[in-house]
Amino acid sequence: EPGLYIVAGPIGNLADLTPRAAAILRAADVIAVEDTRVSARLLRHAGSDRPMIPYHDHSSDTLRARLIERMAAESVALLSDAGTPLISDPGYKLVRDARIAGRAVTTLPGPSAAIAALTLSGLPTDRFLFMGFLPSKAKARGDALDEVAGLRATLVFYESGPRLSESLSAMAAHLGDRDAAVCREISKAFEETVTGTLTDLAARYADAPPRGEIVVIVGPPGEAPPASEEDADAALREALTRLPVSKA
Ligand code: SAM
Repeated sequence: EPGLYIVAGPIGNLADLTPRAAAILRAADVIAVEDTRVSARLLRHAGSDRPMIPYHDHSSDTLRARLIERMAAESVALLSDAGTPLISDPGYKLVRDARIAGRAVTTLPGPSAAIAALTLSGLPTDRFLFMGFLPSKAKARGDALDEVAGLRATLVFYESGPRLSESLSAMAAHLGDRDAAVCREISKAFEETVTGTLTDLAARYADAPPRGEIVVIVGPPGEAPPASEEDADAALREALTRLPVSKA
């Protein structure tokens, strides 16, 4: 069927490619990829010999328009280097323009490091905000953190080893010293999740920047500890003494 197929790939373990995704990679008329060398490996694994075309959201409008045009009669698959397209990866503008043009759009859902890390963290999962990569400049990074410091939500960040410790310190400074988890190399041989407060984790990684791919999960701001029953009674009695006395 013609249209756009958003294809999630593995985040490290080739066996996580779904059978449905593999079938589309074998059948698509063309596969839009970030990096042809990276995707060639996955296509080989999937047994696909379909042609690839490099695509980024900053690719020219002409290239995007040509892909949208092709979707009228052909199947175009969109594949990222890792995980789900559009999640800190190219594809948003392609999907947007495909919808504007009235093309069929469907997805082959699969792994995303953000969701995988959230489920590993042991932190609340009922409300979360995906923050992607923080800006690297200190001022912009601080501003981005200040903007969300008041939210009662778990925060999800993509990170790199060399920046990790500095980012964890900045998070502690702007968000408060919350519980957090560093999830590394998910689904790969050296998968590891380390939990602790932001300052503990910043100290742990200060002298030993970890290798590999990293997601940082930060828990919501702490609740004020619930008042004891005696405290509540005392507060109530105190409040009652301040009520205006009604004169009948
Ligand atoms: N589209 C991808 C997804 O759905 O997860 C994310 C692409 S983004 C350019 C790459 C970042 O995702 C890495 O820098 C890292 O923060 C995170 N990541 C990807 N694979 C990972 C893995 N196996 N373990 C931990 N983090 C990973």
